[in-house]
Amino acid sequence: MSTLKNCRRIVVKIGTSTLTHEEGHLNLRRIETLVKTLSDFKNAGKEIVLVSSGAVSAGVARLGTHRPTCTKEKQAMAAVGQSELMKLYSRFFSDYGHTVAQMLLTKDVIDNPERRAAAEDTFSTLLEMGCVPIVNENDCISTTELNFGGNDTLSAYVALVCHADLLINLSDVDGLYDSDPRKNPHAKRIDTVAALTDEIRAMAGGAGTARGTGGMATKLTAAKIVTDMGIPMYIVNGKDPLILYELLDGAHVGTYFAAK
Ligand code: GLU
Repeated sequence: MSTLKNCRRIVVKIGTSTLTHEEGHLNLRRIETLVKTLSDFKNAGKEIVLVSSGAVSAGVARLGTHRPTCTKEKQAMAAVGQSELMKLYSRFFSDYGHTVAQMLLTKDVIDNPERRAAAEDTFSTLLEMGCVPIVNENDCISTTELNFGGNDTLSAYVALVCHADLLINLSDVDGLYDSDPRKNPHAKRIDTVAALTDEIRAMAGGAGTARGTGGMATKLTAAKIVTDMGIPMYIVNGKDPLILYELLDGAHVGTYFAAK
């Protein structure tokens, strides 16, 4: 089993509902705790790639406006929010002595061998330089054809492109449950998924929260993409990013998807 302890190159994905408060403003304490933890991991010799959502929500909060009602509003709000997000990440990471780099991707980059190779080179050069690449979808130009369908899927492709040893999805749930824990108080968390069978898929249910775009189904799609290519994945609750230390110590938190 590849645990966080013995993995060097780690992709960490954090979603909008984990990065923001209920009303949509950025949760600064949580973001700072995440950055401090990831900086400490870097100090301990790990390489970190962060896939962060939150651009649209940060844009809405900055503009003091309503949630986007059409694609062009979403694109404009993401353009405003993405720079807000990067400003914060840059400030917090540099407080702990690390340098961030922004990588905005669209699906066509992954589908086109030349552009994918360019992204691969940029990731490896940035990691060699000791930077923390921070990735999001390039929302302001994403249309349906260029769309990943959410950052769960994007994080899986990023893990492949940067040849990660492990993908960690910091979610707003504790992991995969055998039934919906919001509806069934007796739902049990699945500790390890050895293979993504139909039975496991049936446990995923529907979409997530109002602010986020994913849900368990897109997380399982991400798990399939990476585990098929030999990269394991965790889903853990990101509400306290210090949970990453528990993973490091080998605690059984979240759900572990074993690589094929
Ligand atoms: N790229 C979107 C954003 O930054 C989020 C996509 C997702 O939540 O999966 O707001």
